[in-house]
Amino acid sequence: MNSVDYVYRFDPANPTLKSSPGDALTARATLEEGNRMFARWMASCRDGELTDGGSTYVVPCNALEVGMVRKADQTARQAPFAVVVGCSDARVPTEMLFGQGFNDVFVIRVAGNILGDVCMGSIDFALTALIESVKVVVMLGHSGCGAVTAAVDSYLEPLKFWSKTTSPTLRAILERIFVAVREAANGIHEIWGADASRIPGYRSALIEIAVAINAAQAAFDLRQETERMGRTNVEVLFGVYDLHSYQVCMPVVPGLKAEDQHVGLAPAPHDPAEFIALARQMARLLQLRDPETDTSN
Ligand SMILES: [Zn+2]
Repeated sequence: MNSVDYVYRFDPANPTLKSSPGDALTARATLEEGNRMFARWMASCRDGELTDGGSTYVVPCNALEVGMVRKADQTARQAPFAVVVGCSDARVPTEMLFGQGFNDVFVIRVAGNILGDVCMGSIDFALTALIESVKVVVMLGHSGCGAVTAAVDSYLEPLKFWSKTTSPTLRAILERIFVAVREAANGIHEIWGADASRIPGYRSALIEIAVAINAAQAAFDLRQETERMGRTNVEVLFGVYDLHSYQVCMPVVPGLKAEDQHVGLAPAPHDPAEFIALARQMARLLQLRDPETDTSN
């Protein structure tokens, strides 16, 4: 059986081969294409079927990034083209899942990808000190998120939230996710009907829709922040990484077979009404989902 390689490659013959995206559109396309490559690689590893006849997936690096031609007084200047706020979940390796390497992505990871003060401070830093290179800011949720799951379970059984096993610091995270859970529940009840909570798959749908709304709401907040700072050439995007297909999509139906065309980041909402529309859209998609593909349990 052939091995399947995921390679970070520096080419001495072309030490500056890799170029950084010059605008938001190119930056978005670079992340999406990188994710398609990553998902194909993961599918190859899982199925033992190589795509495009190849067995190697290459992430290019330039000379300074890997320190290959560094002089005594020279270090790589930090120049990421994207800021990504994602969850701390160990199954969601930010650079890798976007097919990126050194110095490409300014990454902030916190459980439930919530925007606390310290997180906002890091984003403000990136949008100030690194604004020459940063073209997009991405809010990235992921399917089966433990923090969102805990918020959903607390929503369904409030006594869990107040139990001694839930620490005040964990409660602070869950509280920030409750609004998304409420929005997700409203969307499901509108589409599935008044008895939605008794329909099989309700809890898992609530989790997956809350993951999407949680990312969308944070993206909405971030858009306001970039506008407040006058960074109108920086685009704010959001998406959800599906642990099963390894693809970043929006909207997302967890458990679907990976297809290149599923990959896509969405622009941050302009209006809170878009959260309601997204919750309804996902409720429809998950209603149609084959129970066999419900991978949340
Ligand atoms: Zn998570």
